[in-house]
Amino acid sequence: MSQDPLDAGLAALGEFGLIDRIRRRAGTCAPGTALGIGDDAAILVLEPDQDLLVTTDMLLEGVHFSRDWGSWDALGRKALAVNVSDIAAMGGSPRQAFLGLGVPGDLAIGSLEQFLDGLEAAAAEWGVTLAGGDTCRSAVGLVLSVTLTGAVAHGRAVRRSGARPGDRVWVTGQLGASAAGLLALSRGLRPGAPWPAGLDRPAWLGPAEQAALQAGIAAHLTPAPRVAAGQALLGCAHAMLDLSDGVASDLAHVCRESGVAARIFAAQIPVHPAARVAARWSGQDALTLALSGGEDYELLFAADEDPTACLRQAVPTLPVTTIGRIEVGAGTVVLELPGGAIVPLRGGFDHFRSPVPI
Ligand code: ADP
Ligand code: MG
Repeated sequence: MSQDPLDAGLAALGEFGLIDRIRRRAGTCAPGTALGIGDDAAILVLEPDQDLLVTTDMLLEGVHFSRDWGSWDALGRKALAVNVSDIAAMGGSPRQAFLGLGVPGDLAIGSLEQFLDGLEAAAAEWGVTLAGGDTCRSAVGLVLSVTLTGAVAHGRAVRRSGARPGDRVWVTGQLGASAAGLLALSRGLRPGAPWPAGLDRPAWLGPAEQAALQAGIAAHLTPAPRVAAGQALLGCAHAMLDLSDGVASDLAHVCRESGVAARIFAAQIPVHPAARVAARWSGQDALTLALSGGEDYELLFAADEDPTACLRQAVPTLPVTTIGRIEVGAGTVVLELPGGAIVPLRGGFDHFRSPVPI
């Protein structure tokens, strides 16, 4: 029986064979890409009256993902999506991506091709050109590091530092879906697959609850960065970031950078249905999952006017909710519970303090 060439390890292609394959796939759709893959450095033409945004995010096997959780193409998409989300949170347009790849020698060529399929499709969707990168063998699992450029009108990028007392705090979408998906994946559920044999299912966890958990898994594996919303908020948001670590720590970043405090209201948090199911299933509090779970990649922003008008044209169906307000203070965030009790809001993901999620 002849072996499928896509099952072969990367030694069959070699480093330069792999780079050639990546190069053949990379389009040139992003404006300002004078030279992409193939030389010592890419050449990017700076656009007049625009500021250049640059961001990097890594995904590490065993820290951010596990190989058997989802498809390789979803992983390729996510590697780009988490970076696109950072450009979105500045109000920018994504442009060129640079892909740092640390690949275990035994990874099948076919798996890497599927990863590149997902990355390439996502790049086309967001108008991104893969313009370079670096490729090495990894002895510690798959390492994915994407650097992404973006462009925004000169002086207009929305920073974390612009929140002012009297602003309200808003979020797009619903929170806690990704944390619920992570919990479901770590307990053995898989995207689109039936309930695993051998995993206890409580009687209350019926088809509707399973569908909610599947929505959580989809949110975790294929997040949808809010590019159009971020750009539409350019005229309206005083401060903005994307929710990668959870409101609890991300809002604290905004407050610290802006020199203000914030109060959020438990009753107003748009908790995703998946978070309610995951919370009941794991004996946790749904609100904690929504506020500390992380990886929702929704936008959190401060504004003193109702942003609905800014967002209506670009993202007419995206929900946006006010969850609190900015107050005079020094960086603290408190949570007001439905009875009026006030507790400090702590938590959120910290790579060196939180338990390893996988
Ligand atoms: P150098 O030795 O000068 O660093 P490389 O052999 O690492 O050159 O890379 C050759 C070209 O291929 C460069 O344009 C580089 O940006 C590109 N490249 C290498 N690895 C990747 C990758 N994983 N994704 C995209 N481009 C890559
Ligand atoms: Mg190199």
